[in-house]
Formats: sequence, C-alpha cells, structure tokens
Amino acid sequence: MSRPTISDALAARRVLAGQLPPTPMWNYPALDATTGATVLVKHENVQPTGAFKVRGGLNLLAGLDAEARRAGIVGYSTGNHAQSLAFAARQHGTRCTIVMPVNPNPCKAAAVRALGAELIEAGADMGEAAERARLVAEERGARLVSAADEPALVAGVATAYLEIFEQAPDLDAVVVPVGGGSGAAAACLVAQALAPRCEVIAVQSAASPAAHDSWRAGRLLTRPNATRAEGLATGCGFALTQGLMTGGLADFLLVDDDRISEAQWVLMRDAHTLAEGAGAAGLAALLAHPERFSGRRVAVVCTGANASERELRAQLGLAAAA
Ligand SMILES: *Cc1c(COP(=O)(O)O)cnc(C)c1O
Repeated sequence: MSRPTISDALAARRVLAGQLPPTPMWNYPALDATTGATVLVKHENVQPTGAFKVRGGLNLLAGLDAEARRAGIVGYSTGNHAQSLAFAARQHGTRCTIVMPVNPNPCKAAAVRALGAELIEAGADMGEAAERARLVAEERGARLVSAADEPALVAGVATAYLEIFEQAPDLDAVVVPVGGGSGAAAACLVAQALAPRCEVIAVQSAASPAAHDSWRAGRLLTRPNATRAEGLATGCGFALTQGLMTGGLADFLLVDDDRISEAQWVLMRDAHTLAEGAGAAGLAALLAHPERFSGRRVAVVCTGANASERELRAQLGLAAAA
C-alpha cells in the first residue's frame, strides 16, 4: 500500500472542488475564555453527511475505473464512514453495501439507507462486521473499502488540512480526534509540507485506546473498544495511518468519555454548534489538558455532528423518546 503524498492531497482537492465547498473555521471568544487558548473550530460538522469523511469517500470513488464502479463497493462502519461511501457511491452511480455491527445508531443507519445504500446489520463489533463485509465483497466481486488503510481516503481527508493551514497559517497546534487515524494521518501529511512548526496532536477516548497505544508502542496493537463516541470506536491500529502518524504527531492524548460529553456541551454553549461525541473530542483534549494549550493558537477539528437522538435529548435535558 503506497503512502499518500502532498501531491495526492492537492490532486484530491481538484477532485473535490465543485462538489464540496471549503468548510468554515471560526474563533469564538466565549470558547477562548473557557479554554484559556485561542481556539479555531474547523467545522467539518457542517458537511452534507455531517462529518469530514465525505472528503475521503468522494476521492476514493473518483479514483475507481469504470469496471470497479460497475462492481460496486462494500464498507463496514459504525456510521460516518458508511455515510461517506454511500454519499459518494450515489454521486457516482455505484452500488454500495454497508455492514454495521447490530444495533447501530438509528440516525446513522437511516441516513445510509436514505442515501440508497444497502445496509446489512451483522456482528457484535466492528471486527465481526469487517469479516462479514469481506465475505460479501468476495461473493459479489465488489471492492472492499477499509476503514483506514486506504491511501485515497487519507488523501481526500487531507483536503480539510489544506484548508486549515490556508485559513490559519500561524497555528501552534491542530488537535485531531482519532479512530482509525485517517484524519490524524492526513493532518501529519499536510502539516509536514505546509506548516512544519505546527504541532499535530491526536486525541482518542481512553475507553478505546488502540491507535494511541499503537502509536506509543510503535507497533499495531489490539485494545478494548468501549467508548460511547462511535467515530472513535476502533479496536486496533491500522498500518497506513500509523505509518504516517509515526514521526508526524507531536503528541497523542487520551480523554475519558465524560470529558467528551462535557466538550459537546461547551461547543453548544460557547460556539452554538452541534458535535457528536467524536466531533467534540478535540475540544475535550483542551479541557482535560489546559496547561498544554494555554495561550496558544490552536485549531480544533470538529469532525462530525451525527449525534444520536438519545444523546441529543440527554444534552437538552429532555426525556428519552418513547
Ligand atoms: C471517523 C471519525 C473520527 C475519527 O477519524 P479517523 O480518521 O477514523 O481517525 C472522528 N470523528 C468523527 C465524527 C468521525 O466520524
């Protein structure tokens, strides 16, 4: 598997131009007061699918030849990767099948179906869903799309970081929530080329620390996977993204799930923006480690907005739906 380069990121930008406008990045004085840092929120939560991953899906589909497009794609995902592939497949007129572990977030499952993809609920966790996806792809001669080991996904996601360093060339740090690591790997790739003095800091939930532990150990590890934040829920490290994060990340922080919920609330209160748990993890790192960011100019990537109805009702103090 070849590593994507900055040229691949620039090529992806040409592919995405006209399909996705750049997302805004705003500073909120109230959020600065809460964190003690100058915070720039990169709003990937306003993407049409509600998460940054759509950049990767569109770039991957654009790179398939006619035969591969006819054969279709198969993905496995807790949600946002699935929506990205379904959205991109619809744009390109390609058949898309998604395998989700049983009992998925209903809003994400409904969104995937609404985008015209076939949804198969199978497996107790992502590992089992991935195995089923592999079998389905084999049966149908379709292209199996990995959750992270895909150069075209990383190159597509890298377009968010091209935007960030253009929107704010003078950042001290960019904080990136991590699951499989495509976002953080893309951040490393672009920062090395465009903003070598900017620290790329990854953050994961302490309840699902596989990427963190793999990065610290310098080898791919499997770990318990119990976070509530679906976008961060992965049980193993991935070779491609870990390779890019090695030497690229300045640090990798862990936050607990309650801190992530608090950060979701702070984003609502101070920035009037909706984040799902994973989307708030970057801010959670600033809340958990204020000394590390105090007085610095920090971009926080708000990676996604797709909170479940249960999460939203809890945040608003409403009773659960019947
Ligand atoms: C997938 C996802 C992440 C983690 O991204 P990776 O590229 O898998 O590390 C973070 N936030 C949200 C909202 C996501 O959907």
